[in-house]
Amino acid sequence: MRALGLLLAVLLLAPAPSYAGRADVTGAAARAATPLAGRVVVLDPGHQLGNHNFPRKISRQVPAGGFKKDCNTTGTATNGGYPEATLAWRVTRLLQARLERLGAQVRLTRGSNRQDRWGPCVDERGRAGNRVGADLKISVHGDGSYAVGAHGFHVIAPTDRRPWTHDIYRSSKRLAVDTRAALRRRGVPVANYIAGGDGLDFRADLGTLNLSDVPTVMVELGNMRNRRDAHRMTTPAGRATYARALTGAVRAFLR
Ligand SMILES: [Zn+2]
Repeated sequence: MRALGLLLAVLLLAPAPSYAGRADVTGAAARAATPLAGRVVVLDPGHQLGNHNFPRKISRQVPAGGFKKDCNTTGTATNGGYPEATLAWRVTRLLQARLERLGAQVRLTRGSNRQDRWGPCVDERGRAGNRVGADLKISVHGDGSYAVGAHGFHVIAPTDRRPWTHDIYRSSKRLAVDTRAALRRRGVPVANYIAGGDGLDFRADLGTLNLSDVPTVMVELGNMRNRRDAHRMTTPAGRATYARALTGAVRAFLR
């Protein structure tokens, strides 16, 4: 009873809130909670799981930026058989959830991870951000190298190739640098076997990058054939680390 009286006294003595002031605070809080509101992000979880079941469809030649290329490939896997398609899918879904929580609109290039599906082809993946006016596009992959001790992530951006990538190669490089910094910050090691050891690679042969009109990178999260990278890729905590890092990359790029 005594405690209740004390509580009432505290409530009565508390200053009345100022409602005008509170509205401002609420608006600022909402902006702080959804810093990506109004932004459109395209995520491309590389390779459909069922690609290997459709060899003819996957080897169809499609435009890739001034030349033709196979529609897609099967992707790689860990030595334990965990497929690249599933890694890309799970990291992408975690990343999507995080970006949407921050207010972004997220579009994916594929809507399932299934053995009875294939594609889309690299030309469709390449153009996926163009019509929706995306602020950026990230393509998520895992690499597969049998070189002894090869491990770590690398980020691939397009080279300057008129007329294909001249409009986006600079902004894509900036996105690549932000992506590298964000992965490093989360403790993911930089690749020691490719991309000159600095984690950044520039390539002219990827339709997924060449056909984009919006800033874009492809990230190889690690070497799936390496035991430590595979452990990060096949555990929920490891995949959450990748998703958290890539969220940081998007935020840094759009800041
Ligand atoms: Zn791949």
